[in-house]
Amino acid sequence: MDAERRLDAVLVIRADLVEDVMAHAREEHPHEACGIIAGPEGAERPERFIRMVNAAKPSGDEAAEAEERALRSVVLSGDHAEYQGEQRSSTTYYTFDRKERLRVNDEMDDRDEWPVVIYHSHTRSPAYPSQVDIDYASGPLSDPRIHYVIVSTREGAPPTVGEYEFRSFRIVDGEVTEEDVEVVESYMFSHTGADDVPDRA
Ligand SMILES: [Zn+2]
Repeated sequence: MDAERRLDAVLVIRADLVEDVMAHAREEHPHEACGIIAGPEGAERPERFIRMVNAAKPSGDEAAEAEERALRSVVLSGDHAEYQGEQRSSTTYYTFDRKERLRVNDEMDDRDEWPVVIYHSHTRSPAYPSQVDIDYASGPLSDPRIHYVIVSTREGAPPTVGEYEFRSFRIVDGEVTEEDVEVVESYMFSHTGADDVPDRA
């Protein structure tokens, strides 16, 4: 990658948004949670937290039970935990609901926002992009500016931000680069150039 195209290798994010992501992830566990943190066009400043539906998640009780059974039968094997044949489900995979995603896109357009952060949780594997995540990020919605945040709610997840495994990646043309996560109380005093803008809507 040449120098002009290199992006800041850091995600600066407010502490309350980190808590929002983790709260969502814990609520959905053992299913993967997913969502977007929108920010104003032209700034890399995540501000508006948007919980999204994981369309891979079943809705009825019977389905949930079947999923529990499938979950127990999965044999985990490191990075390939998400690739156990037909076992892929909302416990190993997320996908946005197409209609909701379109609605949120329109909403962001109307508000001059863009998806600064796209987050999701891993519930049994480390907070690192799976091949599915990489393919998704390299697909038609690809944007090299997006910070892909992945958190893990599995037992014993090693903390990277506070007590959480909360990591951020750039995914460009199938290439994954991890970046630092800097948690701030407010964007007022951080280096995002937001000093004339209120940090809460
Ligand atoms: Zn994933």
